Amino acid sequence: MADATPPARPNLLSLDDALARLLAVARDRVIAETEKLDTFDALGRVLARPVVAGLDVPPADNTSMDGYALRAADVPAVGTVLPVSQRLPAGVVGAALQPGTAVRIFTGAPLPDGADAVVMQELCEAVSGDDLGQVCINTVPQPGQWIRRQGEDVQHGAEVLATGTRLTPQALGLAASVGASRLTVRRRPRVALFSTGDELVMPGESLRPGAIYNSNRFMLRGLLQAAGCEVTDLGIVPDRLDATRDALRRAAQGHDLILTSGGVSVGEEDHIKPAVKAEGWLEAWALAIKPGKPLAFGAVRRDESAAPAVRRDELAAPALRRDESAAPAVRRDGGDSEALFIGLPGNPVSSFVTFLLAVAPVLRAIQGCPAALPQAVSVRADFDWPQPDKRREFLRARFNPQGGVELFANQSSGVLTSAVWADGLVDNPSGQVVRRGDAVRLLLLSSLIGA
Ligand code: AMP
Ligand code: MG
Repeated sequence: MADATPPARPNLLSLDDALARLLAVARDRVIAETEKLDTFDALGRVLARPVVAGLDVPPADNTSMDGYALRAADVPAVGTVLPVSQRLPAGVVGAALQPGTAVRIFTGAPLPDGADAVVMQELCEAVSGDDLGQVCINTVPQPGQWIRRQGEDVQHGAEVLATGTRLTPQALGLAASVGASRLTVRRRPRVALFSTGDELVMPGESLRPGAIYNSNRFMLRGLLQAAGCEVTDLGIVPDRLDATRDALRRAAQGHDLILTSGGVSVGEEDHIKPAVKAEGWLEAWALAIKPGKPLAFGAVRRDESAAPAVRRDELAAPALRRDESAAPAVRRDGGDSEALFIGLPGNPVSSFVTFLLAVAPVLRAIQGCPAALPQAVSVRADFDWPQPDKRREFLRARFNPQGGVELFANQSSGVLTSAVWADGLVDNPSGQVVRRGDAVRLLLLSSLIGA
C-alpha cells in the first residue's frame, strides 16, 4: 500500500517526540491542590483520591424481575400451583420463605431466605384463593434464575474509580452506588488564552477591509472548557513585541498554562517566540504533521512579588473574562515560578488539530489523567488519497451510511467547515498513499474533545 516517498525533512520534529517532550514537562507539574465536592457537583472533574466501596453492590441477593420467588425444588412440573405466602415490593425485607409456597416479589426486592429462584410474572398465572391467593407456575424454574447476586457489580473493598479518573456521568453514578456523597478532585487547570493578530475583530464589530473575525478565540475557549479548564480570556493582543510580552506577564500570574493562537511562524509580524524567550524559556518546533506545523512550547516566569495581573474587577470587562464556572477558591500552588506556555498556529484548522494532539494531552497530564492520545479505530477508506504529504496528516473525515469514511473535499488548514463536518481525523502516516478500500486509522473527534 505504501509508496516510496522521501521522509519528512529531518529538522521537523515527529508528533511522538514532541508529545514525549511535552508530557515529560507536564508530568512534573501535576496540580497538587485538591478540593472536596459533593458528588452532585463533580461532573467532568478528575479524582485526586480513589473511590473505594464500603459495601457490596447490590447489598443483597435480589430479584431482577417482577414475579414469584420460590424454591425451584417445589416446582417439579409445569403447572404446579403454590399458595402465595408474602408480598415483597422493592425496599422491603421479607420473612424467610415457607417451603412449598411462593412469594409475590417486585424488581429490586431482596430475595427472602430460603428462596433460590424467581419466575417472571409472564410465566405465572394468579389463581384466586385465601389471603394472597395462589399462583400457577407455567415453567420449571432453574435455581438462580432471575436473581441478581449480592456483590455482582461491586465487592466490598474494591477500588471502583481510580485516582486520575475523569468523572463522566456514569462514573458519578457508580460513585453514588457505593454511597460516596463527596469526592476529592483536583482543582481545575487554570488557563490564560489570547489570540494574536492585528487583522482580528470580534463578531459584533464591523469588518473593516483586511480584517477577519476571530474564530480561534471561540474555538479554543470552548475546547479548554470542554477539557475541564477554568479559562481566563485575555482577548486579542496586537502584533507588537511589547504588547505580547506584557500579555504574557499578565497571563503567567495565577495560571498553569498560557495558550495563544497565531504569531508562531517566522514572519516579521510573529512576536510570540521572541516574547516568550524574553519572559521565560522557549522551544520552537516545526512538527512533522499537517495541518499544524509551527508550535511553540515553553514557560513564562511568574513574578511572585507582583500583584496579580488579572484583578477580579477587570474580570468583568468583555475582553478579559473569567468563566463563571470557576471553582471555589482553593489554596494556590506555592512554589511554582512559571506558567507553561503553548503557542498554536493561527490557521483555524491547524489550531484545532494541534490543540487536540498536543494541548489536550498536556491538560490531561497536569490533572494526573492518562495522557496518551485516544485509541484510533480502523476503518475502511471510501476515498483515494494519491498524493500524500511527507508529513503525517490528520485528514478531516466522516462516516458514510455504508460504514466507510469519506474526506472533506477541501483539506486546507484555513477551512474550518471541515472540522465541523468531520466525525474524526484520519491519522495518515508520512507519505502513505491511500486507495479506496484500504484500512485507515481514524481518531474520533468525540474521543479527542473533552477527555
Ligand atoms: P499566523 O499564524 O498569525 O501567521 O496566522 C495564520 C493565518 O491564520 C492567517 O491567515 C491569520 O489571519 C489566521 N488567523 C490567525 N489568528 C486567527 C484567529 N484567531 N481566528 C481566525 N483566523 C486566524
Ligand atoms: Mg498573525
